Amino acid sequence: MGLKVAKFGGSSVADGIQMTKTKQIIEADKERKYVVVSAPGKRYDGDNKITDLLYLCKTHIDHNLPYEQVFQVICDRFMAIKINLGLKVDLQKEFEVMKQNLENGASADYIASRGEYLSALIIAEFLGYTFIDTAGLIVFDAKGRFLEDETNKKLGEELKKHERAVLPGFYGSSPDGTIKTFSRGGSDITGAIVSRAANANVYENWTDVSGFLMADPRIVNNPKPIESLSYKELRELSYMGASVLHEDAIYPARVANIPINIRNTNQPEDPGTMITAKEIIHENQIITGIAGSKGFTVICIYKNNMNSERGILRRVLGILDDYGIMVHHLPSGIDTVSVVISSESVNGRLTELVQDLTNNLKPDSIDVHENMSLIATVGCGMASRRGVSAKLFTALAGADVNVRMIDQGSSEMNIIVGIENKDFEASIRAIYEAFVT
Ligand code: ASP
Repeated sequence: MGLKVAKFGGSSVADGIQMTKTKQIIEADKERKYVVVSAPGKRYDGDNKITDLLYLCKTHIDHNLPYEQVFQVICDRFMAIKINLGLKVDLQKEFEVMKQNLENGASADYIASRGEYLSALIIAEFLGYTFIDTAGLIVFDAKGRFLEDETNKKLGEELKKHERAVLPGFYGSSPDGTIKTFSRGGSDITGAIVSRAANANVYENWTDVSGFLMADPRIVNNPKPIESLSYKELRELSYMGASVLHEDAIYPARVANIPINIRNTNQPEDPGTMITAKEIIHENQIITGIAGSKGFTVICIYKNNMNSERGILRRVLGILDDYGIMVHHLPSGIDTVSVVISSESVNGRLTELVQDLTNNLKPDSIDVHENMSLIATVGCGMASRRGVSAKLFTALAGADVNVRMIDQGSSEMNIIVGIENKDFEASIRAIYEAFVT
C-alpha cells in the first residue's frame, strides 16, 4: 500500500463543517496516513484567522493592554468546533496553560503556534489518529536555522512508531526547547518535511482552490487549470506572484522527489495540479502559466565601454547591498546594466541611492523607471520551440504595450518582461490569448 501525507490549510479546518469535509477526504483513501493541519482560517470574507488573533494577543501583552477579550474569541472558536464535532478533548486545560505562558512572557512564536497545536489535537481525536507534537522533532539551531537532516532523522523515527497520525503545521523547536515557527503560511513546509520523513508517495496539499490556474482569474476570465507542472516551473511562477503554495515548501519534497498534488477540500473530485520533477512538454500547449507582480523600480545605468571595465557589476551590487536592497533581475547589454528592485525595498531612499551609484560608477547616465511591473511567461516547452518570443512580443505590441525590459533566464523556460503598472492587466490578457487556445 502507498503512503500519502495530506496537509490541510486554514480554510479546510476553519470550523466543524470544514473539519467534517476534511475527515471525509482522509477516510476516503486509506493511504492518507499522516495528516498535517493549519490553524483554523477565515470562515467568510472579513472573518479572522486564528493565527492573526494569537499574534494580536501577544501585541496586546507587549503593550500592557488587556488581551482577555481577543483570547476569549480564540477560545470560543475552538470550543464551538469541539461541541459541534462532539469531542472530549480537554480544551479548558489547554487554554489555562496558554494563558499562564502568555502572562509569563512566552514568545510570539509560542503563542502563534498554539493555533496549529489545538487544531491538530482536535482533528486527531476526530479521526481517531495519534497526535504527534512537532516540537522536538522539527528542529532549528540556536540561530533559528532549520536543521533538515536532523529533523528528517528524528521525525522519520517517530513516524515509524505510528500507523496513522496528525501533526500540527507551522512550528518546531529550538535547542533550548522553545517553540520556533516558520514564516507565515509555513504549514506547507511542515507538510513537505513530513512527506520526506515518511517517505511518502505523494504530498497532498488541500486548500480552497483546485490547484494552479494558467493566469490570475481576477485578470483573465476563466483561465484554464494547470494539470501538471515541474518543480522548476512552480518556482518561477510562485516567485512571480502565483500564490497557492508556500515557496519554501517545494524544497523538502523536491529533495526527496515526492510529487505534490494541490487539491480543493470543497471540490475533492477535482484532480487539482500535480507538481513533479518531470518536465512535461505538452504538444498543444507551449506555455504552462503566466504570473506577474506590480511594484518594481528599474535603474538603468549606461556607461561607454562598460563591457571592458572590470568589477563594475560587483560595485553596483555592493552599493545595493549596502542599502539592504535585494536585486530581482539584472539584465545587461554591452554598455548598460539595469537593476530591477522592489519599490518597497527602496523605501524613500531612491535619490540617495542614485547619487551613490553616480558617484561611485561615474556613468554616462542613469535612468530610473518607477511603477514598473514584471510578467513571467513560464513553460518548459518554450526552449524547444521556434517563434515563442515573436508570438509574445507581437501580442504585447497588439495590446499597445511598451516593453521596457526583457529578461530570459538561461533555463529558457521563462521570459520576463518589464512593463508599466498601468499596462499590467492588459499585458497578461494579451499573452494569455496569444498562447492559450
Ligand atoms: N497558521 C499559519 C499562518 O496563518 C501557518 C499556516 O497556516 O500555514 O500563517
